[in-house]
Amino acid sequence: MNFTLNLGYKCNYECSHCCNNSGPNRKERLSKNDILEICDYIAREKPKWISFLGGEPTLYINQISILLDRILAFKAPSKVSITTNGWFFLKDTIHTKYILRQLERVNRIQVSIDRYHPNAEMLISNLQNRADDCNLSSKIEIVSVWSNAEDLIWLAKINLKLRKYKISIQEGAPSGRAKISKNYLKREIPRPQLQNMACPNLTQVAYHPNTGFTKCCGPLANKASLKKIIGSEKYRNFVNLRFTRNIERKKLSELASEYNVDLSNETFSHPCEACEYIFSKCVTDKLMEVV
Ligand code: SF4
Ligand code: SF4
Repeated sequence: MNFTLNLGYKCNYECSHCCNNSGPNRKERLSKNDILEICDYIAREKPKWISFLGGEPTLYINQISILLDRILAFKAPSKVSITTNGWFFLKDTIHTKYILRQLERVNRIQVSIDRYHPNAEMLISNLQNRADDCNLSSKIEIVSVWSNAEDLIWLAKINLKLRKYKISIQEGAPSGRAKISKNYLKREIPRPQLQNMACPNLTQVAYHPNTGFTKCCGPLANKASLKKIIGSEKYRNFVNLRFTRNIERKKLSELASEYNVDLSNETFSHPCEACEYIFSKCVTDKLMEVV
């Protein structure tokens, strides 16, 4: 199992395609108690990969250091990854090197670059020059989100400049601010495909400041009203949640039948959109109670 850790929703950007509404005014972050629970989980379950996300995770650099100290002390075989918007590549060289030095113990730095981020082209040229200068032991990879043809054209253009890095391309999902601003990949999932779809997050356990441990890294995790239903600060409670068991074992169409939600007249562009629809129609504390 892999572990995705959302350190907090604060971000120095406020992009229209952000799937979790991160931004400069968000305050939610991990508490000391959250960190204790997370360390306990890592020591016992030894996830294969631990991925630090946000918001912008480098804004929580002290917490990253504390977590890395403890992960190394457990001698857990986990590998660590961080996904950053790479803002520090736009600062002076000293600043860039300072942040990269804090990330020396991270195995993989994923720099999220797309045309919605400020000064993306300048970031690309700084990244190439400075990453080599720093003689990094961490592997740098690029991740980019696309939602429309212009995004793909932009990606094809920057691909030539970033040839030496692995680039992962993700589809923009209808979640958070992306859904509000309609900046996500619009398509219609064919009905037979929808019948067989399950949660795309099955190989992950996530931890968000709002929900604690949860299976969800999608739109349900953004809903404060679902906090007690989809997650728990205690790992042992999380594994026993009816929500956890259902998401792990059932296709989305089976969940819809179980909760008497009719999908036959609806169209969806992403499995998470179907999942959000099902739970918006059926959620009551009784339906989702701990079993
Ligand atoms: S998409 Fe990334 S960089 Fe943009 S606001 Fe969201 S977390 Fe920040
Ligand atoms: S919204 Fe549903 S399908 Fe999407 S990640 Fe969350 S639990 Fe899984």
